[in-house]
Amino acid sequence: MAFVSMKEMLKTAKENGYAVGQFNLNTLLWARPVLEAAEELKAPVIVASSERLVDYLGGFRIIASTVKMFIKELGITVPVALHLDHGIEVERCKAAIDAGYSSVMIDGSHYSIEENIRMTKEVVEYAQLHGVSVEAEVGTVGGTEDGLTGGIQYADPEHCERIVEETGIDALAAALGSVHGPYQGEPKLGFAEMKEISELIDIPLVLHGGTGIPREQIRKAIHYGHAKINVNTETAQAWTQTVREIVTADQDIYEVRKILDPAHGAIKQTVKSKIKEFGFK
Ligand SMILES: [Zn+2]
Repeated sequence: MAFVSMKEMLKTAKENGYAVGQFNLNTLLWARPVLEAAEELKAPVIVASSERLVDYLGGFRIIASTVKMFIKELGITVPVALHLDHGIEVERCKAAIDAGYSSVMIDGSHYSIEENIRMTKEVVEYAQLHGVSVEAEVGTVGGTEDGLTGGIQYADPEHCERIVEETGIDALAAALGSVHGPYQGEPKLGFAEMKEISELIDIPLVLHGGTGIPREQIRKAIHYGHAKINVNTETAQAWTQTVREIVTADQDIYEVRKILDPAHGAIKQTVKSKIKEFGFK
């Protein structure tokens, strides 16, 4: 069965010392190169839609049915999860689950830890009824992406321990210095805090803002329990760069397929290189 929650795939990844890549859709057509890249490498993959792009993409039901149809028609055999990235409200997470998502993130990181735990618990209770996995966030990922802006705020290890124990989540995004969008200068992840958190909790950690982090720091993050790394900026840059080159080189081009086919090829290459970089063999 190719369509699964991310619970088992992340467990397997953590046990085997690699991280599963999450790749966000910026158009529905991106599902194809992401799925094909994973299938060619025989690697599990997480296809995601950012909460802020759900309406633009056509809504939860259109996204879920499209991804599932691509899996079926392309004959995808590797494990694939469809995940809601940065779900902002309990009701939105429930709507994604009702539409057929196999995984959701409830991002209550902007609230107090008590409120964050309360919201997360409500999502977990609903998700478990449907065999859907849940990711929560503690601390704040910096940078800007899809209109989501935040200053870096490190996750408090004690809050991490509490949210895991009190809610039963499957994965935790503990913000430790990563940012959404391009980094200004060299990223500096908080490895001392990461080590402390990894010793307190057993479930897989999630690294947001996976674009532009040096390979050495990626390896270290995986060593300290990260089993999922989110990528959005890098695929978006690859797509845009390719489109820009083509339309700049040929001012008369208007056949959309001749622009988008190579752009999707660039996404596929990027996804493959990230899957390898994240240690999957
Ligand atoms: Zn994120």
